[in-house]
Parts: sequence; structure tokens; C-alpha cells
Amino acid sequence: MSTETLPKLDEQTIATVKATVPVLAEHGEQITTRFYQMMFEAHPELKNVFNMTHQKEGKQPRALANAVYAAAQYIDDLSAIMPAVEKIAHKHRSMNIVPEQYPIVGKYLLLAIKDVLGDAATDDIINAWEKAYGVIAEAFIQVEANMYQETAEETGGWVGYRDFEVIDKVKESDVITSFYLKPVDEGVLPGYKPGQYLTIKAQMPNEEFDQLRQYSLSDAPGKGYYRISVKREEGTEQFPEGKVSNFLHKHVNEGDVIPVSAPAGDFFLDTASKKPLVLISGGVGLTPMMSMLQTIIKQQIDREVHFIHAARNGSVHALKHDMKMAGEEYPNIKTYIVYDTPTEEDMKEKIHAKEGYVDLAWLQSIVPQDSDFYFCGPEGFMKAIYGALKEWNVPMQQINYEFFGPQGDLEK
Ligand code: FAD
Repeated sequence: MSTETLPKLDEQTIATVKATVPVLAEHGEQITTRFYQMMFEAHPELKNVFNMTHQKEGKQPRALANAVYAAAQYIDDLSAIMPAVEKIAHKHRSMNIVPEQYPIVGKYLLLAIKDVLGDAATDDIINAWEKAYGVIAEAFIQVEANMYQETAEETGGWVGYRDFEVIDKVKESDVITSFYLKPVDEGVLPGYKPGQYLTIKAQMPNEEFDQLRQYSLSDAPGKGYYRISVKREEGTEQFPEGKVSNFLHKHVNEGDVIPVSAPAGDFFLDTASKKPLVLISGGVGLTPMMSMLQTIIKQQIDREVHFIHAARNGSVHALKHDMKMAGEEYPNIKTYIVYDTPTEEDMKEKIHAKEGYVDLAWLQSIVPQDSDFYFCGPEGFMKAIYGALKEWNVPMQQINYEFFGPQGDLEK
């Protein structure tokens, strides 16, 4: 989107906002933590929209602090942050964020800045931030309005939530189960780009608020259903088990109905590219990769593909046979399984190509450098892959990745 249509800020406002960047960097997370506390106190209904576990973990305040910090830094050249705005806007569209919610966020952000900075937050600073927030909010609202329109205009597309029935539930491994979904209204099911996700609204009997969660579509589009594959997040001594994943595994069965928003996301396979394709997944991060792999089989079977999947061992490796079969049936598709702690059964079956972890030397020995790389998995895994690709001087435009949570920073 062009930034031409956004309101212009005066020089003084820009200078004041830019001057607060160091303060934000120092207090950014404290401000956003306070912001969420104050906003939820005044507007508890917004707990239906925000992921409250991410709040507790501190991930959401960190992500918001980073976004605010970036916006302040580039307030005189918003085009520099439009890619980040668009990325977040995809998530907002899938969560049905509406323009009326932006002034609420703005109000509590300013109150939190005042609350944390005290007298240091002068009227000039607050006024400048109010204006700057207005411009940033307008950028989100415009980008999201286009996305809502595109979604509504697509054949079979819808805005808001549409009821889907679970038509099949399939256990894929000890921890991952797939849910096959069909619209209750039996209307047209729009396609999606391989790598995109759905947002589901879980309405759980013991929870006061709805819980929204994203799940990548794990099959190729065009099959008459949507499939998501969900890992059951176990609890630890310290933390409770994952709410929605356990609810889905334990209580959602064939015939049950879940509200779902239309497919979204900017992490998807570029099917126009002819470069070799390298898909690298860790754990449940294989879901978007399976969608990409199945799409390649349908649409680009001549393309050179290397699919590397890392898991603890075979017992938690979902869709193992689909992956193996693709490698056996199609000469251009090479699959590599990496287990860090293979079981005795894995050692007998010996379908894994490597024991341990994916590292640069091994990657260099099996895939061409001039490839399109796509990866997804736990944050530590993603940092390792990203670090390896950077060390190998793979150009940034050939590196694509998805976080299964708020956007983190792979450079840190
Ligand atoms: P939550 O209740 O949200 O808890 C998450 C984790 O936090 C748990 O391990 C829990 O023990 C821990 N926790 C709880 N409280 C605290 C606390 N106070 N402090 C620290 N930790 C705490 N998941 C899939 O399984 N498959 C997919 O295909 C998939 N695709 C995704 C695609 C995208 C774009 C995104 C953003 C996410 C995707 N996810 C996917 C992740 C999914 O959205 C959920 O985050 C995941 O299922 C966990 O949700 P939950 O409600 O079960 O767990």
C-alpha cells in the first residue's frame, strides 16, 4: 500500500517522536505491559480477541514494544515499515480486528506512557505521540480494509467467522492430530495459498472468554475441505497445559462445529519461482510445509525439492508416511528426516537420514545455495536455521519463515 493516503505529520511532531526512541527502547516493554493491564481492566471484552497466554508469557508486550519502537524510528518514512504493518495486518484480518478498536488501543497506550514515564512524559511528548499513533493506526486500518475487501470478494470468501464442522479427526503421532473441516452452510470453499493459516475461535465451557488461535493449513488447497494439524501442548511443573490444543484433542470430535475465519497470512509458497525449493521444519512446524509439498506435487512436479524435517523421534513425527511416500514416488523430491533422540524402533526402521540437529555443513552437503528456503519450527530451531543461511550468504529475498506465535527476532 502506498503511504500517500496517510495524514502528514508536522516537523515538530516528527522530531519529538523520534527523540523518544531511546526512551522507548529502555522502557518499551514496561510501557506495553502496563498498557495491556490498563486496557483489559477497562475493556475486559477485548480478552476475547487477544491471546492471554502470550500476555502472561510476555511475548505480546515484547512484540508490541518492538512494533512501536520501529514505528517511532521510521515515523518520517512509514514506507520502510509497511512490510511489517502488512504482516501484522494479515493476523488482524484473520482475527477480525475492526477500526473502532484502534482508538481504544491508542488511548491506553498514551495512558501507559504517562504512567511509566511520569513527569518525563510532557504534554508535548504525549501530543506528538497521539498524532503519530493516529497516522500509524490509519495505516493499519487502510491495509486491513483492503484485505477485508479482497477476502469478501473471493469466490466463497467470507468476513468474520463461519461455522465449520469437523468431518474427520485423525491421530498423526503421539502429540499431533489432524482435523478435517467443512463449512456447515455447504457453500463454496475458497482456495488458499500453501503456507497460510486459519484462525479458529474456541469457545470452551470453562473459559469466560473466547480463545483465538492460528493453525496452518496442512494439506494442498482444492480438496473440498480444510485440514489443520494440531500439536497437544503438554503442561510442565511450572506452566499449565495449552488451553486450545488440549481442548481440540480431548473434546472436539467428528460432528462438532468450530467458528473459523478465512485463510490468511503472508508466508506462502511462490509457485512462480523455478529455483530449487528447500523446506525445513522442526516439530509441528511441518504443517505449512506439508501444504507446500502437496501443492508442489499437484502444480510443479518438475521443480527440484528438498524437504528436511527435524523431530525428537519417530513417535512425535506426524505425517511421516505422506512425507516418505512423496520422496519415494517423485524423483525430483528428496526428503530427509533428522531425529535428535531416535527410539529403538526408529533405529530398526532407519528412515532418518541424520541423527542430531540440522547444521550448516550438512545443509551445504545436500542442498544448493541458490534455492528458495522456507522454514518453520520452535524459535531456537528457527534461529539456528536462519543463522546457518545467513552464514552461507543466502540472499534475504530467498529466506522465508513463519513464527507460530508473535513475531520474534531471529537476529537476537
Ligand atoms: P496456550 O494456552 O496458548 O499455551 C501455550 C504454551 O504456553 C503452553 O506450552 C503452556 O504450557 C505455556 N504457558 C501457559 N501459561 C504460561 C505462562 N504464564 N508463562 C509461560 N508459558 C505459559 N500450532 C499447531 O499445533 N499447528 C499448527 O499448524 C500451527 N500453526 C500456527 C500458525 C501460526 C501463524 C501461528 C501464529 C501459530 C500456529 N500454531 C500452530 C500455534 C497455535 O496457534 C497455538 O499457539 C498452540 O496450539 C498453543 O495454543 P494453546 O491454547 O494450546 O496453548
